[in-house]
Amino acid sequence: MMWMQQPPALAIVSFHSGEGKTTLLEGIIRELTGKGYRVCAIKHSAHNEVQDASKDTWKYREAGAAASALLQSSGYLEVCSQGADLHTAINVVSCFNPDIVICEGFKDSGLPKIAIVEPSDLGPGSRLRGVVALVLKGDVAPVGGVDCLPFDPSVVAAFIESRFLESRRRATMIDRYGRRILGIRMSLTQRCNLNCVYCHHEGEGSPSGEMYTDEILRILRVARDLGMRRVKFTGGEPLLRKDLGGIIAYSYALGFEDVGVTTNGQLLRERALELYEAGLRRLNLSVPSVDPNVYRSITGGELRNVVDGLESARRLGIHVKINTVVMRGINDSSIGNIIEFARTRSSQLQLIELEDLHLDKGFFEKYHFDLTQTEETISRASDSVVERGEMNRRRVYLVKGLPIEIVRPVSNPSFCAGCTRIRITSDGKIKPCLMRDDLLFDLLGGIRSGLTDDQLKDLFMSAVSAREPFYR
Ligand code: SAM
Repeated sequence: MMWMQQPPALAIVSFHSGEGKTTLLEGIIRELTGKGYRVCAIKHSAHNEVQDASKDTWKYREAGAAASALLQSSGYLEVCSQGADLHTAINVVSCFNPDIVICEGFKDSGLPKIAIVEPSDLGPGSRLRGVVALVLKGDVAPVGGVDCLPFDPSVVAAFIESRFLESRRRATMIDRYGRRILGIRMSLTQRCNLNCVYCHHEGEGSPSGEMYTDEILRILRVARDLGMRRVKFTGGEPLLRKDLGGIIAYSYALGFEDVGVTTNGQLLRERALELYEAGLRRLNLSVPSVDPNVYRSITGGELRNVVDGLESARRLGIHVKINTVVMRGINDSSIGNIIEFARTRSSQLQLIELEDLHLDKGFFEKYHFDLTQTEETISRASDSVVERGEMNRRRVYLVKGLPIEIVRPVSNPSFCAGCTRIRITSDGKIKPCLMRDDLLFDLLGGIRSGLTDDQLKDLFMSAVSAREPFYR
C-alpha cells in the first residue's frame, strides 16, 4: 500500500441513532460532487450490523462518493484491512484521491461532533482533532471552539467548501490566456522500436536519461493535486517500459478520469491483457499506412504486428483510435483504404497534419499535405457531425458509422487556443508547448535535489504562467 498526502477529513457524529446523519451526509456529498469535488466517505459503525451499515456506504456511493469504506467498532474495515483505525480507513479511501473525506461516527467513538484533520495531525492510531463545527438535529451544547450549523446539507456543504476546499479550487491551473490545464501528455521514454520518417519525437531534442517509476508516480500525484484530469502516455514507444501497467493503474487510483496511451502497436499483442487489467480502456494506435510495404518503408516495422495488436486490444474491449499522419506522395492517395481499414475494425480514425519538428531539412516542405480539402470531402460524405465539448470544439465526422477527426495544428490559432494540456518530457521537464524548445522547467532535477511537493507545484505554476499560444 502506498501512503499518500492526506486530504482533509471531517466527521459527523450524533449521540443517538436516527438523527439523520446518513441523510445529511448524502446531501453534503451531492452538494460537493455537484460542484466538481471528489468526495470519499467512511461509515464508522458502532454496532456490528454489517448489512445495515453496508447499506449506508452504498447510499454514499449513490450520492456520488468516489469511494466509501465501512469501519466497524471492532476495528474491522470492509475495504479489506483488519485491525484498522480511522487513520487506516482515511488512508485507504485517500487512494481514490478525494478532495475531502467525511466520516460518519458513533457516539462512543471518541470523535468530536464534527472535526477536521490536517495531514500533519494524522500519526498512526491518531484520532480526528480540531473541532470546528457541530451539526445535530437535537439541542446539544457546542463544546469549545465549535461552530454551530443548521441541519441543512447546502449550508454545511458551503461551510466545508469555504473552510476546507477553497485552496484546492485555487490550485486548478489556468494560464494567462484563460486556458485551463486539464491534462498532461507524458513521454515515458525516447527509446523506440521503430524509426518513423515523420517522427517529431514529441518535440524532444536530446533527452538526458529517463525517469524512474517512483519519479513518474510522484509527478502524476502532483499533477493530479493541481486539478489535472487526463493523462496520455507517449514516447518514444511507451510499451517498451515494463512499468507501464503499474503507471496506468496508479493513474486511475489517483483519480485521473481519462488515461490513454499512444503506441505504434508493435508490442501490443503481448501486452494488451496486462494493460487492460491495469484499467486501460482506450489507446491511440499509429498506422501511417495499411499497405505492408509502404508501412515498412515509413516505419521500418511490420504491419502484421500492428494488426494483431489491434485485434487483441479490441477483443478485450479496449477502444482504439487510429492515428495517421498524412504525407504528400506517401499516403495521401490512400486515405480511402485507411478509412476502410478503420471501419472494418470498428475503431475511430484521426487524420493528422504533418508538423515541422525535429524533421530532416526539407522533409516538411516536401511532404506536408494540407488537410483542408480532405476535411471538406469528409464533411460532405458524413452522415452527421458531432462537436466535441473540448479541444476547441473539434469536429468528429461520422462517415458510414466511422468517427473521423481531422487534426490541423499547423499555423492554426484556434488549435492553440483550445490547448488544455501540458507536456512532460521523458527526462522529466515540463514543456508547456510542443513547438518550443526554449521553454523547459526541470521537474526531475527538482525531485532529485529534494524539492517538496509544494515546490514542485510552484514549478508547474511557473510553467503554466509561461504558456502562450504558438500560433495567435
Ligand atoms: N511510438 C508511439 C506512436 O508511434 O504512436 C508514440 C510516440 S509518437 C511521437 C506520438 C504521436 O505523434 C503519434 O500519434 C504520431 O502519429 C504523432 N506524430 C509523430 N510525428 C509527427 C509529426 N511530425 N507531425 C504530426 N504528428 C506526429
